[in-house]
This record gives sequence, structure tokens and C-alpha cells, in this order.
Amino acid sequence: MRLPPRILSILQLAAIGMAMAAIFVVDTGTRYEVAAAVFYAIVILIATPALGRSGLTVLTVACIGLTVSSFWLTPHGDFHAGLINTGISIAAIVMTAYLVIRMEAARTAADLAQAQLMRMARVKNLEGLTTSIAHEVNQPLAAIVTSGHACQRWLAQAPPNLDKARQALARILDDADRASSIIVRVRSLTKGEPAHKSAFDFNPAILEVLALAQAEIERNGIVLMADLAPDLPHAHADRVQIQQVVGNLVLNAIEAMATQPAHSRVLRVSSGVSDGGTLALAVADTGVGFPPEMAERLFEAFWTTKPHGIGVGLSISRAIIEANGGQMEAHPHAGGGAVVRFTVPSILQETPS
Ligand code: ADP
Repeated sequence: MRLPPRILSILQLAAIGMAMAAIFVVDTGTRYEVAAAVFYAIVILIATPALGRSGLTVLTVACIGLTVSSFWLTPHGDFHAGLINTGISIAAIVMTAYLVIRMEAARTAADLAQAQLMRMARVKNLEGLTTSIAHEVNQPLAAIVTSGHACQRWLAQAPPNLDKARQALARILDDADRASSIIVRVRSLTKGEPAHKSAFDFNPAILEVLALAQAEIERNGIVLMADLAPDLPHAHADRVQIQQVVGNLVLNAIEAMATQPAHSRVLRVSSGVSDGGTLALAVADTGVGFPPEMAERLFEAFWTTKPHGIGVGLSISRAIIEANGGQMEAHPHAGGGAVVRFTVPSILQETPS
């Protein structure tokens, strides 16, 4: 059973309060030499997902206040050791709070970069740009996630390994910079690239695009079903252009489902191979669909039914697929919605030039 978010945050706050009370009791009751207050750093770490920046600041101040109070209330032990331990504990608390606040900021920047990238993939179609950036940006984003987890682990140690955490944080910031500089570079591009055909593994290329669209898919409450056939022969086409097309079809499908009831939004992406060795990809949705007689109109340049649409996404996509030696068509889906399919040559075939 899943608890409502409000109850969950009340429970989290109660748990944080209890942990702080326990640390306070132990820190006050034990001798000066026992630096139990460093465990406040772990409380800060655990509280991070539940609290915002200002909440974390308040928590940090409270932890420091409790550490100082414990120091004054502790009845026995070596006073000087207590003084040093209190200093170390406060330093650990402040550094942990500082690092988690920076880490959260880096994460937010990465999320924004990803959302911006999805929007840009669409604009890029207009300008004939490629989606090679999808691959390039995904790498720093994945690295940010890895370093973020490492940072959390270093901070969770008792006492926290602040040096290692600082190094992980530096990597996060570098990677976030890299992601945003890629986006800046792509923005400056105005011309499309000619098709560079080469052999590539079809399914992983599709999965990369789906990973990029994941946040948008989740935001729209869509169930994604990737039905990718195993052991496909390698495709022989321009990998980034094919990814650009898939990204466009996925965005169209997401938009087509935006007005549908939330529980019925399903996006199914299926790959396969024909007897002749041609690879095929189908993007099916449960969106608004279109009447069968409209199937060809969809591919007309500047034909759109969207208030802010431009109507060039599908015409460019078809042009790209044809330039790569494949074909593209759209059909109304049997159970409602639409399915757009395209083919690309595999390495088993002679590629039309
Ligand atoms: P735009 O998205 O700017 O309108 P496109 O060329 O991508 O341009 O699409 C043209 C039109 O085709 C859309 O306005 C929409 O009416 C229709 N269309 C595209 N994809 C779908 C889909 N998955 N389901 C229903 N209609 C679609």
C-alpha cells in the first residue's frame, strides 16, 4: 500500500525528530570523548529528500544548537577532548549540509537540462539538426547520477568522508557544465548534417531515445511498453538521424495522448525484422488518432492540427527515413490512437544509395 505524500512527509519529519532526540540524549549522557553529534550529519543526509533548501538550513542550525547544548550539559569526561569533538561535529554538520545543498542544486540543473533537451530535439527538427546530442548529453547525465550516489555513500559514512564527497561533487558540477555546454553548442548549430550511414545496433539506439524521453513520458502519466525483438541484424543507416526520427514520433505520441484520460495512456514501441532483412520500428499510442483518409496528409509539410504546431515534424522524419533507404507510414490504431511505422535497411541488405 502506498501512503499519501502528506502522511509520508509527516512520518519522515517524525523520524527525523526522533533520530535527533536520540542523538541528543546519547551525546549528552556519554563522556566528552564520545563524539555522538557527528551522527547529526547522517540525519541531514537522510532528511535531504524530504526538506527543501530552507528546511535543510533550519535543520542544520537546529543540529548545531543541539550539539552545543549537549556540550554544556555533558557532566563528565575530558573537557578539552569535548571541545575538539564539538568542533569536529559542527564542521561535519556544516560541510554535510553544504555538500547536499550543492548536490541537490546540481541534480536540479541536470533535470532542467534534460527537459530542455527534449524541447530542443523538436526545434532541431525544424532546423534539420541531428540528435547526436541525445547521446552526448546522456553521458554526463548518467555520470551525474553515479557521482550523486557515490557522494551520498561518502556522506553516509560515520564520520562522513568529506574529501571523497567533495571530489564526487566536483565531478557532478563538471558533468553538469559539460551537459549544458553541449546544449549551448547545439543551439548554435543552424544547418543539418548529411546522412552518415554506418552499421549500428538498432535496439540500443532506440532505447537511448526512450531513456531521454523517460521524464516526459512519466510526467504525462504514460505507460511505456518497449517490445524490442531480440537478435536483430545491425541497421545500416545514420544512427543519429534515426534517433531524431524516433524522438519526434515519441513526442507526437505523447502530445496525441495529452487530452486522453490518464489511465488509458499507453505508448508501445516495437522493433522487428522482415524476411528480407529490413528492420522496422512501430510507435503506437492510444491518443486522439486520425481518420484513415488523413493518413497521407500527416506527412504534408506545414499540415498540423495543433494550436502551436508547425506541421513539419513528420514530413522531415519521412524525408530522413527515405534518405536512409527506408519508408514511413501512419495508420489509425485498431483500438484507438495511431501507429507510425518506419523501416531501415539492415547490413544484410544492399543499401540503396
Ligand atoms: P506538428 O506536430 O507540429 O503538428 P507533425 O508533422 O509532427 O507536426 O504532425 C502533423 C500532424 O499529424 C499533427 O498536427 C497531428 O494532427 C498529426 N499527428 C502526428 N502524430 C500523430 C499521432 N501520434 N496521433 C495522432 N495524430 C498525429
